[in-house]
Amino acid sequence: MKYKKIGLALILVTTFFLSAFAQRAKAIICLTYDDGLETQLSTVIPQLDSVGFKATFFLNSIQGSSQSDVVGQTPEAVLGWTKAARNGQELANHTLFHACPEKLGWQKSISIDTYTIDKLITEIKTENSILALLDPNRKERSFAFPCNNFLIGDTDYTTIIKKLGLVKYARAGGDSTSIISNFKNLNTMKVPSWHVWTGTTLEELIAFAEKVKKVGGMGVFQLHGVGGQVFQISTATHRAFLAYLKAHQDDYWVTTFSEAMDFVTKQ
Ligand SMILES: [Zn+2]
Repeated sequence: MKYKKIGLALILVTTFFLSAFAQRAKAIICLTYDDGLETQLSTVIPQLDSVGFKATFFLNSIQGSSQSDVVGQTPEAVLGWTKAARNGQELANHTLFHACPEKLGWQKSISIDTYTIDKLITEIKTENSILALLDPNRKERSFAFPCNNFLIGDTDYTTIIKKLGLVKYARAGGDSTSIISNFKNLNTMKVPSWHVWTGTTLEELIAFAEKVKKVGGMGVFQLHGVGGQVFQISTATHRAFLAYLKAHQDDYWVTTFSEAMDFVTKQ
């Protein structure tokens, strides 16, 4: 009996190290989607499910498919996000009202320029409470800066929300050159990502992944609409890119932002 237990322990330890080694040998790909868009519920999640990938969804106030007009009936989007979380998709914090700088075209009255740090902290706390209802099993949240902006006036609020323990890691912006190759110097509260622009092609998405593979690094895709809505890429492009990643699973570890960051920071 004792030997059986030791044997089992050995198998478990070996499996752990082998899987850790296998992950390390691969380039890390994080698919992240912003703003809780309806096309993410209708298109992205079914496509991810079909290949078994887990991704990260940075949500603000719950939008999504049509709200129920029956009293006491849960809106479809709430059910959709709850189910996604139960299936292992990561729900993360993107503030409540997604305030951006006026200079990026935001109406002055709702822009971040009118905010105090306290007001933003309240929003992030409130969004954490909403996420806890949708996704009760996750205790720590990742964060993405609305419009990739981390300033209120001249104050960078990054370290403030980290010190308050509101979020564990944060994703910042970037472009198609924003590949992480040096984990030692990575700022875990400003992890760069490629803000994928409207009409980006399959070839461009693959080229980014291949650059990540070449340096054995980490690449974070910042996606929005798929087959509709803002910064959209086509449904076919998205499906084909997932198929490419699936076909090259020996090269890529596709995982959620928090899981990737937990792994990277433990190395
Ligand atoms: Zn956003």
